[in-house]
Amino acid sequence: MEYMPKIGLEVHAELKTKTKMFCDSLNNSGEKHPNVNICHVCMGYPGVLPVINKEAVKSVLKVGLSVGGSLANYSRFDRKNYFYPDLPKGYQISQYQHPLVSGGKLNGVNIRRVHLEEDTGRLVHEEDASLIDFNRAGVPLMELVTEPVLSSAKEARMFAEELQLLLRYLKVSDADMEKGQLRLEANISVMPKGAEKMGTKVEVKNLNSFQALERATDCEIKRQSEVLNQGEKIVHETRGWNDQKQITFSQRKKEEEHDYRYFPEPDLPFLQINEIDDFKNLKAGIPELPWEKRSRFSKEYGLKNETADIFTRDIRLGEFFEETISEASADLNEPSAGRQIAEIAANYLISDLVGLMKEKFLNFEDLRVTAENFADLILMIKREDVSSRSAKDVLKIMVETGEDPSAIIQERGLLQVSDDGFTEEAAKKIISENAQAAEDYKNGKISSLQFLLGKLIAETKGKSNPQKAKEFLENILKS
Ligand code: ADP
Ligand code: MG
Repeated sequence: MEYMPKIGLEVHAELKTKTKMFCDSLNNSGEKHPNVNICHVCMGYPGVLPVINKEAVKSVLKVGLSVGGSLANYSRFDRKNYFYPDLPKGYQISQYQHPLVSGGKLNGVNIRRVHLEEDTGRLVHEEDASLIDFNRAGVPLMELVTEPVLSSAKEARMFAEELQLLLRYLKVSDADMEKGQLRLEANISVMPKGAEKMGTKVEVKNLNSFQALERATDCEIKRQSEVLNQGEKIVHETRGWNDQKQITFSQRKKEEEHDYRYFPEPDLPFLQINEIDDFKNLKAGIPELPWEKRSRFSKEYGLKNETADIFTRDIRLGEFFEETISEASADLNEPSAGRQIAEIAANYLISDLVGLMKEKFLNFEDLRVTAENFADLILMIKREDVSSRSAKDVLKIMVETGEDPSAIIQERGLLQVSDDGFTEEAAKKIISENAQAAEDYKNGKISSLQFLLGKLIAETKGKSNPQKAKEFLENILKS
């Protein structure tokens, strides 16, 4: 029998506020020394009082607004009670009944809620002991929960990637999965096609990359389908993902919500979001969002969807593209440099400049090519002052030396010659030097033309426009 998967995601993101969720200890995820950013509050000493971090609340509200969710009129924190060595208080301050945000949509996927809680400490397992680093204890964590409406592993991955991008655009989290700043859990069930009730779900944890999310989800869909086909039942449990073996494995039977004995946190006031002055003008603090940027890049510059997507995902690359276009427009004395220039710039950026940067392990901070110089090169390519072959060499030199392209072109004599006489003379010379190939072409061997063209380009050291050079060859050979 064939089954239909239903997937709901739970995503945790560490917010990059200056201080922790309920105290003024530093929130520094880059801190290498253990247990330095701690205080009585985040260590859970008796008698201390937490204070709500306004920036953290603001961050979650911005996410809520961006996804079109509704911000709570009344919100509060709850205690989630459980014991674990990384949780010094014996409870986590979280939100249960009254999350900051309810509803909303991202990538067409319905969001159930977005709430705020505190992170736990970090366990470091050594060979014969486990150590605890409390630097992370009390760091603000945003939790976003989707409805179980995703219907494939690919869709789940796309959702998670778009959410990561949103967090980065809003600058509320660096959302780096490798650093544990973004953590994913997938709830997965399968049901017979056409069934009304969803199947029993399994929650998969330790998904440390988008690829792990996609693979684990696919793997779990397959496993559950097989279990059902064998006439057995799905056990409601938490499973882990073994990246080496590419399988999910049972971790523990799931605890029920009532096991946590949630109750309102008595040490914190409830929040009335619309009464708080600082939250009145949140919309103004929301920048252009990833999906808005994608559609603007397509419309404004006429870029293909894939190209617009590349510039949207790589924020710095997109900025460099826009700087280039604005420099080129200034030079052309036109408010918009035009689609052809945008296309050339996009191509040279994505396939050439990025390639050179990778080769030399450069990022934009160390790049010696300025947007102004890059724009100059693009304009020269557009005007056919430089052949596309030479342009690649010029760009390479620009990356190495930071020189401006016209200087490089002058120095190395790479200016493309549009003087027809020069190319025609060279074409005649090549034909007379390669009489056999010329003869072959006349006798119908088309590939000989390519051979002659290669010789001609070499003869003119790439200065001739290849299209024109080809025309000259053809004309002379036909006459
Ligand atoms: P629980 O009470 O077990 O924590 P919730 O209803 O709170 O379950 O949902 C937790 C997550 O599981 C949500 O992301 C939700 O979309 C997802 N989910 C709920 N039921 C299913 C199901 N049958 N199949 C897949 N995902 C589900
Ligand atoms: Mg739940």
